[in-house]
Amino acid sequence: MAKRVFNFNAGPATLPLEVLQTIQEELLDFKGTGMSILESSHRAAAYEDVNNGAMALVKEILGLGDNYKVLFLTGGASTQFTMVPMNFLKEGQIGVYADTGVWSSKAVKECNLVGKAQVVFSSKDIGYRRVPKKHEVVCPPNAAYLHITSNNTVWGSQYHEFPDPGAVPLICDMSSDIASRQIDYTKFALIYAGAQKNLGPAGVTVVIIRDDLLAKIKPGLPTIFDYNTHAKENSLYNTPPVFAIYVVKLVLEWVKKQGGLMAIEKLNAAKKDAIYQLMDKYPEYYRGPIDKDSRSCMNITLRLPNEDLEKKFIADAKTAGFVGLKGHRSVGGIRVSLYNAMPLEGAQKVADFMETFKKANP
Ligand code: PMP
Repeated sequence: MAKRVFNFNAGPATLPLEVLQTIQEELLDFKGTGMSILESSHRAAAYEDVNNGAMALVKEILGLGDNYKVLFLTGGASTQFTMVPMNFLKEGQIGVYADTGVWSSKAVKECNLVGKAQVVFSSKDIGYRRVPKKHEVVCPPNAAYLHITSNNTVWGSQYHEFPDPGAVPLICDMSSDIASRQIDYTKFALIYAGAQKNLGPAGVTVVIIRDDLLAKIKPGLPTIFDYNTHAKENSLYNTPPVFAIYVVKLVLEWVKKQGGLMAIEKLNAAKKDAIYQLMDKYPEYYRGPIDKDSRSCMNITLRLPNEDLEKKFIADAKTAGFVGLKGHRSVGGIRVSLYNAMPLEGAQKVADFMETFKKANP
């Protein structure tokens, strides 16, 4: 058995070991086809089962009905920053955004290239320390949609209650916390997520879109950028990343086997508690920059008393078998990413490591 580390990378990220083992077992001969899924035609029956099976699992796990379509698109979550305004901004309308970090500001930038964005909440001036409270996000009457980022991967904040824009469609970039907790996914008219954190490998973006929003798409868009194209063609308009979608299906089967989102949420809560409790025990040493009620369960960010100690922390952690703990290059510090596939043992061991490190480096 290969030596595996605890991988805290923020994405691409750790995958369940069982999933990797299934990939290995099925690689040379996928379900009696005599070829690997990597070599399969996207029109073959074997792939059709993968495609439809993965779509059905997304809906089943998130508790979504037949009024939603699941699409598997390429171009990363970043392409959605552009596709959303392209598809939904009509004459005289604006895209409404809550700016809670790096990725939401990129979404705003792209909207302004396509049409006009209005930022109705921003925590930029306070170092993206928090997400808005429900009442702080109010949409003007000409809003085409409200766009939020449920989990801010770089800064380490997360919504624990969502704005209610009434009749305005709520659109969410859920790249770094989709399927990590039990929330009412039917609140959203459109959800998108790059797969490479909680759902699988890089290369596919899952887009979930409600029928009433599909009906509102602006006519005359370039074919490939029109959500209707992919909805009508069951995500087979162009060649999909078959291998990535196959892995997404395996990951979703794994989520189901764990007991679905109820069990996953419990596990994720225990993991984040292990780290936050340690931070709260030594708040002067392990400083959390995020307000407590906006703290993320997926990406925990923290600072040590100085940068030299942070460098030593990362190096010592690596020696101890924990990789990927370095904060995003734009913010520095430490980031502990605790996506679904990270076992509880990983979080507990890092917490133990933090305790030992503090004692050895007062
Ligand atoms: N949104 C969020 C919340 C992210 O964390 C990321 C990537 N880390 C992106 C969007 C961009 O995703 P991609 O690299 O797939 O374009």
